[in-house]
Amino acid sequence: MTRGRHILIVGGGTAGWLTAAYLAKALGTSVRITLLESPEIGIIGVGEGTFPTIRDTLRFLGIEEKSFVREAAATFKQGVRFVGWQATSAEGPHGYFHPFEPPFYTDKTSLVPYWLLQDEAGRPPFAEAVTIQNRVAEAKRAPKQPGEGDFAGPLNYAYHFDAVRLARVLADRARQLGVERIEGRLQDVVVDERGRIERVQTDGGVLTADLFIDCTGFRAELIGRALRSPFRSVKHQLFTDRALTCKLPYDRADAPIESYTVATAHEAGWIWDIGLAGARGIGCVYSSRYIDDDRAAAILAGHLGPGARDVTPRSLAFESGWRTTPWIGNCVAVGLAGGFLEPLESTGVVLIEAAVGMIAELFPRQGPVDLPACRFNELMVARYANIVNFLKLHYCLSRRPEPFWRDNADPATIPERLGELLEQWRYRPPSRFDFMLEVESFAFFNYQYILYGMGFRTDLAEGRDGFPDTAEAQRLFARIKTFGERATRDLPSHRALVEQLTGTRAA
Ligand code: FAD
Repeated sequence: MTRGRHILIVGGGTAGWLTAAYLAKALGTSVRITLLESPEIGIIGVGEGTFPTIRDTLRFLGIEEKSFVREAAATFKQGVRFVGWQATSAEGPHGYFHPFEPPFYTDKTSLVPYWLLQDEAGRPPFAEAVTIQNRVAEAKRAPKQPGEGDFAGPLNYAYHFDAVRLARVLADRARQLGVERIEGRLQDVVVDERGRIERVQTDGGVLTADLFIDCTGFRAELIGRALRSPFRSVKHQLFTDRALTCKLPYDRADAPIESYTVATAHEAGWIWDIGLAGARGIGCVYSSRYIDDDRAAAILAGHLGPGARDVTPRSLAFESGWRTTPWIGNCVAVGLAGGFLEPLESTGVVLIEAAVGMIAELFPRQGPVDLPACRFNELMVARYANIVNFLKLHYCLSRRPEPFWRDNADPATIPERLGELLEQWRYRPPSRFDFMLEVESFAFFNYQYILYGMGFRTDLAEGRDGFPDTAEAQRLFARIKTFGERATRDLPSHRALVEQLTGTRAA
């Protein structure tokens, strides 16, 4: 009888437990999975926003939506509202919405060129014109009815949640799927002469495995400290490197809950404001090169208002970047150990999902365990670099006058590929052919929402006669408006949906 492979995951945060549960489900019982975690060190416990891919992951893991919403204190997320990114509030209020729902289109017509050809002064904002989700979310409505099936609904959505409780939900599921948990602290990693991990020493003894998965967060105990995989920093492109985070209770028990992240720009970064079930999760993200910690605390205090004098924020430092070889020999890194890009657009869990999906599918059940390493590294590195393009897009189109923003608009800080695309998008909107799907986390329409929300101009005037279906487009724009108004009437409030699913309100 052949002995099944043994995977040792070191670290029990979202990355560790998601990897454990996913691999247990995907690889079945012929592969033994053990997870070592140290409650004494604890988890980072931040990261309250996700991307719609999380629904497929939870469905795959066999977690019910209702129990997930209850156990992870989750609420629904329909996108991100950006406030003050294009200009300072002194120049008048400016905001735009990045919904998860793609722009409406038919076999014959994409509405995007027709919106671009409309009179700028009179047309509605892009997201409002091309999807009903903008209206629904702004009206504090849910993306679905309570009776609709698990993870399904008329509108695309993700979740906001309590990061600590999410890790617990995943841990419970992983253990149901047969993952063995060991409590202890990794003290030493023994690397052999070929640069492969031979064993790890913990305070409880020695552990060996065929594949070691480093989920030790920013400590990167295996991939970084032991194997010295180089870290590629992109702080010259994504400047933020600190966050002050806190929770603020609602002022009333029945206060409406936003179903989108509010990302408000400030002089040297931005503030996230997230509607969780029992409180708002708030974080001031900033660049220590442009403001100091006291100034960041004052900006956060200004956002929180006078009612929050007793709130003591937690301070976190990070650097955007990734390991250039996240898989070396018999060790692969997932989660913060492999890399992190600042939290705008919530890509932490997305990157974990991408990594673990690939490990599950490429995992060799026999033969050398490092066979997929090269391909894995290539795809992960490309994915990180592509996300940098998308995040940088949010910053580099800004007209804000502060040094942080001026430097962000400096072409020398814009990745080359993004610079090329911006040049092309002056004459046509982003297209699916701009991107290689296997290494992208965001689609062409996500780029459209940011570009046109930020007031970017795509000049189609010369090609106007290539878009002759104006009457049909006008009819579709009108239908989106009517459907949006109807959906706003028909869908429950976001709070009502959450309370119904969690049983805190009568059905
Ligand atoms: P951790 O949670 O740090 O877990 C590390 C684990 O390793 C812990 O269990 C720890 O005990 C264990 N460990 C470490 N050293 C040892 C040792 N020597 N021995 C034994 N065990 C050890 N992501 C999103 O998707 N959306 C967001 O909105 C978002 N916002 C963020 C905001 C900020 C400011 C930051 C910094 C991150 C954010 N993230 C977000 C990223 C998100 O927090 C992480 O991707 C996610 O929590 C996964 O973390 P992790 O499991 O890799 O690390």
